[in-house]
Amino acid sequence: MISVFGSANMDLVAYVSEAPKRGETVTGHRFRTVPGGKGANQAIAAARAGADVEFLGAVGDDTFGAELRATLSEAGVDVRGLRQVPGASGIAHIVVDDDGGNSIIVVPGANGTVTGPSGGDLATIAGSRVLLLQLELPMAAVVAAAQAAQVSAVPVILTPAPAQPLPDELLDAVTMIVPNEHEAAAITGVTGADAALDALLERVEEAVITLGSEGALYGSRAGERLRVPAVKVRAVDTTAAGDTFVGALAVARAEGLAVAGALRFASAAAALSVRREGASTSMPTRREIEDSLS
Ligand code: ADP
Repeated sequence: MISVFGSANMDLVAYVSEAPKRGETVTGHRFRTVPGGKGANQAIAAARAGADVEFLGAVGDDTFGAELRATLSEAGVDVRGLRQVPGASGIAHIVVDDDGGNSIIVVPGANGTVTGPSGGDLATIAGSRVLLLQLELPMAAVVAAAQAAQVSAVPVILTPAPAQPLPDELLDAVTMIVPNEHEAAAITGVTGADAALDALLERVEEAVITLGSEGALYGSRAGERLRVPAVKVRAVDTTAAGDTFVGALAVARAEGLAVAGALRFASAAAALSVRREGASTSMPTRREIEDSLS
């Protein structure tokens, strides 16, 4: 079983020719709500890639909360550890203009109320093969979850997004960190994937820097280094490519695959996701991933 301790957000996406300036009202051409949040996305990616997944987090008592719970549940994610708290669910208010540029407001809502794991959450984490963490919950809660996993010798995979300074007490409990190249640069202050990887390995046992259509770069303190090419596809929507990559990587690691095979499985899953529009709905099933690898 894989546990995910993380965020669930409803993405509210408006498409306009040009984003409104202060005081201005513009008419958009399309609107959609898309269940997201990095935690929920990774949980769904892992479930679709074939794992038993438990999601630990919080939604509000609004309709978005009910929708987020239903989306996770329909994807096969166990939501018994998803709390409902009074008030609004987390949302991301996204404006996309005709040039594909976007501006985003994230309001954490229920995600911001999450404290460290307690009670049944601790048993869930202790019983996991892998714990997935991101940084869309309060840092103290993320640190507490990582430490709970460490106590039970459960490997922790961290997606350090949104990028921010990372306390040693967090990284000391993390097994593998998986930033994209922008996050890697922001965290290490170093440009260039190879140099950033070296800097990350000073603090964490294993690291993967994802490089979009250029694939991914893996390194370990043990001295292993691998470059994994991206699978060539016509990209339609790269939203949540990174979350699909991490969800699938966790499944492969939980099943005991060696690192090269695990990275190939994750790259195949992520490539399939960018061929379709959407976040959770674009994530491939186990069957699709295996077919694409054969
Ligand atoms: P994020 O979505 O977090 O910004 P990336 O853009 O680095 O992360 O993408 C994560 C992974 O998804 C990459 O390592 C790669 O395997 C896959 N991927 C992303 N974009 C493409 C693409 N255009 N074609 C094929 N695979 C892609």
